Amino acid sequence: MSGGNLDALGAARARIRREINVEQRRLLDLTDTLGILVVGLGVPFFLWDHIGHGRLLLWGGVLLTLTLVGGPVTTRADSTNRFVAVLRTMWIWGTSILWAALPWLDPSAVETGTVAWILVFVVVYGIASDVIFLPQTDDMALVTLLSGYASSFVIALLVARQWGAAVAVVGFLALLTLGGRGWRQLIGLLTDKRIESELHALVDELTGVGTRVTATLAVEELRTAGVDDVHCMILDIDDFEKLNDTYGYPTGDTVLKTVAQTLCETLPAEWQVARLGGDEFVAVGSIAPELHGMRDVCVRLPGLGSGSELTVAVSIGTTALPAAEAGADDLFREANAALRIAKSTGKHRVVEMTARLRAQESQRLALGAATSAALETREIVAYAQAITDLHTGLPVGAELLARWPQDDGSIVMPDDFIPVIEQQGRGPQLGDLMMRYAVDLVSAARLAGGDQYATVNLSARHLFHRNLPTEVDALVRSAGIPAERLVLEITESQHLPQSSIWRTTAEELREIGVGLAIDDFGTGYSSMEQLLSMPFSHLKVDRIITSSQRRPGVSELAAAIAAMAHGGGMTAIAEGIETEVECDQMIAAGYRYGQGFLFGKPQPLDELLDEFTSMASDTTSPVQQ
Ligand code: C2E
Ligand code: CA
Ligand code: CA
Repeated sequence: MSGGNLDALGAARARIRREINVEQRRLLDLTDTLGILVVGLGVPFFLWDHIGHGRLLLWGGVLLTLTLVGGPVTTRADSTNRFVAVLRTMWIWGTSILWAALPWLDPSAVETGTVAWILVFVVVYGIASDVIFLPQTDDMALVTLLSGYASSFVIALLVARQWGAAVAVVGFLALLTLGGRGWRQLIGLLTDKRIESELHALVDELTGVGTRVTATLAVEELRTAGVDDVHCMILDIDDFEKLNDTYGYPTGDTVLKTVAQTLCETLPAEWQVARLGGDEFVAVGSIAPELHGMRDVCVRLPGLGSGSELTVAVSIGTTALPAAEAGADDLFREANAALRIAKSTGKHRVVEMTARLRAQESQRLALGAATSAALETREIVAYAQAITDLHTGLPVGAELLARWPQDDGSIVMPDDFIPVIEQQGRGPQLGDLMMRYAVDLVSAARLAGGDQYATVNLSARHLFHRNLPTEVDALVRSAGIPAERLVLEITESQHLPQSSIWRTTAEELREIGVGLAIDDFGTGYSSMEQLLSMPFSHLKVDRIITSSQRRPGVSELAAAIAAMAHGGGMTAIAEGIETEVECDQMIAAGYRYGQGFLFGKPQPLDELLDEFTSMASDTTSPVQQ
């Protein structure tokens, strides 16, 4: 594979090595500081009884002055810790001068061996620490430091005429020197081992490209390199799950590898490609890429014979931000938003984040924030549309529909804010709120002598709440209404018949007595078998069927659905009845109940309640057949 972007491994290795070097240098600084503290405190302690305190303090002052002047000058640019550098300088200058001055002060006062030991230590250690700060690899610095300590110790022993001990230490030193290579190798080995383990976080094992971490680091590198703009793209394979299901996981893996490779070959060499996980890839670079050719990736499938190829479609979102303001998170978020737009507008597209889309996106986010606030503060209210007995014209129930009234008197409709609520995962919260409005409506109607029921639309996610039946039970009990006066509507396209959790929840709800309606029937894909095996009590036929009675076969279909619903013990409701003609047709097809503009638009609850109660005396409660 070609392309600089595939050298994720090399780049990552170099980066980790640099990080480890910094760590080692910190370790060295620590060792140095300890040495300095020991000698710096030890020397005055030693001399305290031998030399006049005034002199010691005088030399201490000289030491301090020299440090303050010499510190900044001798601080090496490559030292990672300025404080340590100053300490080191302080010690080298100070102790050297102190010891240089000793014979002049009182040569008989201090034992020669000790003097020699410290003097040699000072000189050798000083040299060693200087050598350390020469530019070189840090394991070399460690070796130097160690030899510095050891040789100063040996010379001190020799000066003190401790021959035996000196020989032993020389032997040790020789071994150490000989083993120096081994020592360095050991450090190298440990470093390599660490690099490899850290590489796991930086290289995607399956495809060989980077990971999110690598991509984030690449953004930082581009920014420090001083590029003008940082470009970012996020790619997602269209219908990858289906592909996995159809061809199996090994083929899925081959597809992922090929997409990674194609990205690396298509993008400019300086781009860094990474896999975010699943079938999502991210890439960053400073040169604007040409991506339209990327929308189709040709995958050769080994093992299926020569010439077997598969073309997979992908969706791509791209963005570019000035390096000064392009944090990795901002770039990924923008490219992700562009990708989301690409996917929601038909997939197999490249969508570039533009000023217009950015504005749209921030509007969407603002709407998101405002919507969740509106939910919390119950600014989102329920309107209700009557469900009418087509034979008597009386309201037998009502469907609650969410509305969001604005300060200016306008009303935001559910199609505009429910997708936002669903995206935020707050569908259940809306469901809870609407159920509360529903039981309130039913209670109020009963107080006024009515017996209407109320239906509430539930989001699919809500059905996966295991405690939904318990909560609903508590709600109807506390409101003191019969459970069957509450009906929960589930849209045909969102109900998930295969899920056992949903089935259990549905059965428990029916056991409590709550009604369950299949909504928008005729727009989804339920099979009759699936439908009949579910514990629905109501079936709401979609307006698409109500309004196309003139098309051949539709009235027969409407009649068949009604017959099936009744056969299954369900109450059939015709939705979206707008005209007398449609009403008559649905009655002829066997529908007893209907809902639509002909009978009334959705209206505030108190208005509908007036309608309920003004007719209460006539209502005969024909809810369940
Ligand atoms: P839906 O459940 O199918 O609700 C019926 C929609 O059809 C309502 O639109 C209603 O105003 C409209 N409608 C009623 N009669 C007629 C008619 O005669 N002709 C026509 N053309 N339309 C009619 P609305 O209130 O805008 O609601 C749209 C959708 O938003 C609802 O479709 C439902 O899926 C969703 N929705 C509304 N409220 C909630 C809610 O509280 N929770 C959830 N999860 N979804 C809700
Ligand atoms: Ca509905
Ligand atoms: Ca409906």
